[in-house]
Amino acid sequence: MNDSDAYLWIRKNLINVNNGTEQDEAINIALKALASRVPLPPIQQVGKIRYGMGYAYHDWYCPTCGCFLAYEPEGYSKQGESNCKKCQQRISWDAI
Ligand SMILES: [Zn+2]
Repeated sequence: MNDSDAYLWIRKNLINVNNGTEQDEAINIALKALASRVPLPPIQQVGKIRYGMGYAYHDWYCPTCGCFLAYEPEGYSKQGESNCKKCQQRISWDAI
């Protein structure tokens, strides 16, 4: 079982137990921490355009906290995974 499998299992089997107890709070904290370890692709935010040398660039941002990750050309050459320096969200560059 990997991080993604564990996240989905907890959501499916434990998320519906919502009695307002400490257990619910612990599960929600664990889910939030686990969710940041499941790799997500970076996003190009609409409205955030950088201009330079006569070109418009759509840079890459964190899908969770929205902070800057990479300039557009740099993003296309990235491979594998990295972490957002602000929220630690795992980022997968292979899907872009
Ligand atoms: Zn982030």
